Amino acid sequence: MRVDARRAIASAFAAVALVYATAAAGEAARAAEPPPSQAAAAGERFEAVVIDAGHGGEDHGAEGPGGLLEKDVVLEVAQRAARQLRSHGLRVVLTRDRDVAVALQERTRIANDAAADLFVSIHANAAPSRAARGIETYFLSLDASDEASGRVAARENEAFGSGVSAPGGDADPVAAILGDLVSTEHLAESDEFARLARERLADADSAPSRGVKQAPFVVLMGVRMPAALLEIGFITNPKEAQRLGEAGRQDDLAGAIAGAVLEFARRYDARRGAGSAAAAAAPQSTPQEGPVPGQGGGS
Ligand SMILES: [Zn+2]
Repeated sequence: MRVDARRAIASAFAAVALVYATAAAGEAARAAEPPPSQAAAAGERFEAVVIDAGHGGEDHGAEGPGGLLEKDVVLEVAQRAARQLRSHGLRVVLTRDRDVAVALQERTRIANDAAADLFVSIHANAAPSRAARGIETYFLSLDASDEASGRVAARENEAFGSGVSAPGGDADPVAAILGDLVSTEHLAESDEFARLARERLADADSAPSRGVKQAPFVVLMGVRMPAALLEIGFITNPKEAQRLGEAGRQDDLAGAIAGAVLEFARRYDARRGAGSAAAAAAPQSTPQEGPVPGQGGGS
C-alpha cells in the first residue's frame, strides 16, 4: 500500500510538472518580448500574496456536524484576510472568491502567474475522533513528517483528478521531476511563514497548537514562491465547528493569518534591504488586485 501511495503521489507530481513545464515554455516565449517595467523590481520587495481558499463547488472538503462545510468556512476566512491585507497596501490575489471549483494545478498556475511573494492555502481539518482539535500549519515535503500528516495530505489531495497518469509510466523520470519540483530554494522561507502562522493562529486560539509539519500537498507543488498550507481548526470537532461558523471567529483567524503575512513581509524586506510595500502605503490606500482570469475580482 505504501508503494501505491507513493506512486499516486508521484503521478500527481508528474501531472503538476506538466503544467509547470507548459508554463515555463510560455515564459520562455514571453522572454523574447520586452520585459515589463516592474520586472527589475520583482523579487526585491514583498508586495503580493496569493490567498487560496481550499475546495469549492462540488468539492465540499470536510464536513462538520450540522452540515458546516470546509469550503464555506475557508472562503470566509480567506476573503476576510484578503481585505485586511489590502488595507495594509499589499496586492492580494484570491484563487477563488466564490463557491466555485478550481483544480489544484490551476491554483498553482494562478499563483505563479501572479508572481506573488507568498502562497497561503487555507483549509479546515478533519479527524475520525471528534475530540481532535487545534491548529496545524504545513509546508511542502515529499515525505510526510508523521503518519497523521500523510493522512491530512491524502485528504487534501483528493480533489486532484484520478485520470492523471505519469508520462512514460517509468518511476525514474518521475523521480527526476520530483527532485526539480521540490525546490529547496523557498524551503526556509516556507518553514518560516508556517511557524509565524502557527504562532499567530495559536495566539487566537485556546487550543494548543499541533505544530509545524511537512507533507506532500499537491496544491503546494510547483509553486515558485514560499508556500504554506494552514489547517485552521477541526471542523469534525463539534465545539470547533460551531466557532468556525461564527463571523467573530472567522475575523480572528483572518486577523491572525494577515498578521503572520505582514510579519513575514517585514522580515522578507529586511533580509533584502528593501522598504516594505505594506509600511510605505498610505493608510487610505487600498489597491485592487490584478484580474485573475476566470476568477473575477475579489471583495
Ligand atoms: Zn481542505
